[in-house]
Amino acid sequence: MPTPAISTPRTYQVRTYGCQMNVHDSERIAGLLEDAGYVKADDATTPDVVVFNTCAVRENADNRLYGNLGHLFPVKQATPGMQIAVGGCLAQKDRGEIVRRAPWVDVVFGTHNVGALPVLLERARIAEEAQIEILESLEVFPSTLPSRRESAYAAWVAISVGCNNTCTFCIVPSLRGREKDRRPGDILLEIETLVREGVLEVTLLGQNVNSYGAEFGDRQAFSKLLRACGDIEDLERVRFTSPHPRDFTDDVIEAMAQTPNVMHQLHMPLQSGSDEVLRRMRRSYRREKYLGIISRVRDAMPEAAITTDIIVGFPGETEADFQDTLDVVREARFAGAFTFQYSKRPGTPAADMADQVTPDVVRDRYDRLVELVEDVAWAENRGQLGKTVEVLVAEGEGRKDDRTARMSGRAPDNRLVHFAAAPNVRPGDVVTAEVTYAAPHHLVADVVRGVRRTRAGDAWDARQARPVAEVPRGVALGMPAFPAPLPSR
Ligand code: SF4
Repeated sequence: MPTPAISTPRTYQVRTYGCQMNVHDSERIAGLLEDAGYVKADDATTPDVVVFNTCAVRENADNRLYGNLGHLFPVKQATPGMQIAVGGCLAQKDRGEIVRRAPWVDVVFGTHNVGALPVLLERARIAEEAQIEILESLEVFPSTLPSRRESAYAAWVAISVGCNNTCTFCIVPSLRGREKDRRPGDILLEIETLVREGVLEVTLLGQNVNSYGAEFGDRQAFSKLLRACGDIEDLERVRFTSPHPRDFTDDVIEAMAQTPNVMHQLHMPLQSGSDEVLRRMRRSYRREKYLGIISRVRDAMPEAAITTDIIVGFPGETEADFQDTLDVVREARFAGAFTFQYSKRPGTPAADMADQVTPDVVRDRYDRLVELVEDVAWAENRGQLGKTVEVLVAEGEGRKDDRTARMSGRAPDNRLVHFAAAPNVRPGDVVTAEVTYAAPHHLVADVVRGVRRTRAGDAWDARQARPVAEVPRGVALGMPAFPAPLPSR
């Protein structure tokens, strides 16, 4: 009698593009699939399901997606039963167009219905035709979505979804909808659960964290949330992204300065140092307001590391406008900046503006901006020489310079630190080390003074010991643990 075939679980792979919100959403996608019986594919096997979690913000995002889908077509033809799903912002934007251009795609799902993915995959398999499901708005926070976190020691926690602003270069409001805020109690419950699982660091995510609470009528809700995070035992590091200068109030600065586990680090998008360009961008703050926030942050937290996002070559930007941006970079003393060359993004008001800046001018300004940003960041980093920092050790190989094996991690102010590898140090542990060298984008700390083994390191150890399918997934305990968005700018 023939032996019955043993059915093996279907495997999946999630490919993530774009910002931290997509990383956060991808952890939900992975958790959902594992709850439905899938297991993560290892690098050596062709996955049964490939999910693209796309971004519509970056230039040529659609070309990249269709290129990747094209590469997968022959793989799918050669792999019986393989399915391809496309979600995220580009799916929300392009909808049926995706299946028209790549008819071998099985599922297209939007930013508001991540939770439907397993059902849509199943429906596509049975019906043998593509399933496209896009919702116009988030009806309920998918609070019970399971999540499979990539890190054992750090977690993203979404506090709001959507954005009420209308920046003219940004596609996010039309794809992610108006801001919806989670209730503070739900957020805190999720963080407490994460801490019990070994997490030491959380990053609160929202398109505009400073407007958190607008939906339920509490303008100080974000500072209260930061202070409440300070009461969570064993939570060592709290970060947030992104703040918006328009809504940034002094109670947040006070909460940052007075709450010991809130890190003295701020990533606050500038975009432009020119008031006229900010007006055209429909960013409703001006240069003086931005610099005023920076100055009050530095008064309250002199050692704070401040980073930013800047776009050069926005339509109508003159050389004088660009010089205003350079001035702000010098005055703000950014520890780093994500710099972008403006390019048209279809569907945004700026794409139709007159006075588009020519590509060679954009490139020239970009080069000059990057040079200044690096000079300033390097000078700021040199100010760290000789200081002793606590480094939360990250996963990854680290670096090898001058025959010194190094591991990497983040200082409290979020600076990237490479330190001389010490025995028995695990991701999630905390190393105390003295900074011996500064580069524009990182520090080297080769004098290791101490290693603190942590619960997070234990959790990392425990993960390594178990097969992927058994790694615990933080089901969000009845709280709005929603799929969340975030612009990186
Ligand atoms: S750039 Fe940020 S603040 Fe402006 S519309 Fe986009 S998400 Fe909202």
